[in-house]
Amino acid sequence: MSPFPMPGEAARDLVEVGRLLYEKGLIASTEGNISLRLAPDRFLVTPTGRSKGRLAAADLITLTATGRKIAGAGEASSEIPLHLAIYRARPDIAAIVHAHPPTATGFAVAGVPLAECVLPEVLLSVGSVPLTPYGTPSTEELCEKVLPTARGHDAFLLKNHGAVSLGRTLREAHHRMEMVESFAKVLFTAKLLGRVEPLDPEEVDRLLRMRPAPPGEGCGNCATCTHGETGSLDESLLNEVVRRVEERLRSK
Ligand SMILES: [Zn+2]
Repeated sequence: MSPFPMPGEAARDLVEVGRLLYEKGLIASTEGNISLRLAPDRFLVTPTGRSKGRLAAADLITLTATGRKIAGAGEASSEIPLHLAIYRARPDIAAIVHAHPPTATGFAVAGVPLAECVLPEVLLSVGSVPLTPYGTPSTEELCEKVLPTARGHDAFLLKNHGAVSLGRTLREAHHRMEMVESFAKVLFTAKLLGRVEPLDPEEVDRLLRMRPAPPGEGCGNCATCTHGETGSLDESLLNEVVRRVEERLRSK
């Protein structure tokens, strides 16, 4: 059986995920974009300037890996070059969802990553959710800022912008986006209550080893434990980890 979805089925799934993202409030207006790798050189993507909650299969655009349009009446979303760059960096994934979930985006605006190791389900399904540095939407600059993180994580926040989730299937990418937002709500509540109690570091290790993680993924920039393979970290993340560890040691 082909590892890639049939185009008709893929289009139906993509339309359905757009509707669910919209109905759940993870995107509003014409926000967000979704893509699917149909074959090594064929991608099905959402159009620009349309509500992703009200698409039909005929509205979708088919592109090559370099972004050349093969089929579809409209224009691909302006964020699709970012999707294509991520597909090049991650041959193991076949779907990408970009949304602006309000609570997770609140963390991205506050400059707070969702990288605390507190919920086993999140560690198992998504891993840690770091924050990438700001880049102007729809630019090459954003791609450059995001790729080091996308190589080692299945979901991450875009500073002052939103969230991106990746999956081996569209369903997986979509579920990860839902989980990012629900995790943001849980973490927000815990922070309001004034206490965030991390999982035991050995438990974090065990959970991260249980999931089919991208190469090199650790818990990355977790504020509460020092796990993770530093080889997957970029320097700014590493500095942040060091800064937070030093801060904690000083406060003891
Ligand atoms: Zn966006």
